[in-house]
Amino acid sequence: MILAERYHDISCGHRVVGHEGKCRFLHGHNYRIHFTVAADQLDEVGRVLDFSVIKTALCQWLEEHFDHKFLIWEKDELLPQLQEVSGESLVIVPFNPTAENIAQYLVEHIGPQQLKEYPVRLVSCKVEETAKCSAIYSL
Ligand SMILES: [Zn+2]
Repeated sequence: MILAERYHDISCGHRVVGHEGKCRFLHGHNYRIHFTVAADQLDEVGRVLDFSVIKTALCQWLEEHFDHKFLIWEKDELLPQLQEVSGESLVIVPFNPTAENIAQYLVEHIGPQQLKEYPVRLVSCKVEETAKCSAIYSL
């Protein structure tokens, strides 16, 4: 297996339901999200996949769906109130939006959807909330 990686930076709000500390409050991060794509063999040029394809298939998806938006869990008790004041900036997700759950969602749902036309798969995603704190989900 051969891997290729590209990262993308987005700004995004969230809160972590059930967090014992300040992460339960509405806040945001300048996320750095690393995508690792795998192929069983290189293409005729010698690549896993052109890096520009990772950009258009995965980084662009982040730009369109998460960047400058607020991720909120569908079961968050604050959802109805937030929908009243900022409905269009909310992204309602089926998970508590921790870095771990975001990484898993991207690998399990967005990777297969966005890369289905290519002979590669998204095998890992690293979500950095800060330069010091990150989570990785790998197949
Ligand atoms: Zn946070």
